[in-house]
Amino acid sequence: MTAKQETTIEMHCESCGMVTNDQGEYCQYCVDENGQLRPYEEVFAKMERWLARVEPTLSHEQIAQKTKNYMATMPEWRGRDET
Ligand SMILES: [Zn+2]
Repeated sequence: MTAKQETTIEMHCESCGMVTNDQGEYCQYCVDENGQLRPYEEVFAKMERWLARVEPTLSHEQIAQKTKNYMATMPEWRGRDET
């Protein structure tokens, strides 16, 4: 945790919650080279890989569950039917 003083309003990616600043609705990781939002499955896989790095003690199942729970809170994916 850093206590950096920021005067700009922080924008958060609608897909993963990462700070995007002036990137727009989505961060660089959630869009493809054309600026289109990546499909849920791709964002999910990226987030799983990220979580596996920061939480190396978790099992794959726990990581999948956490990722799913987290993405369900994102504006872009909230209310998405998981079938
Ligand atoms: Zn994102």
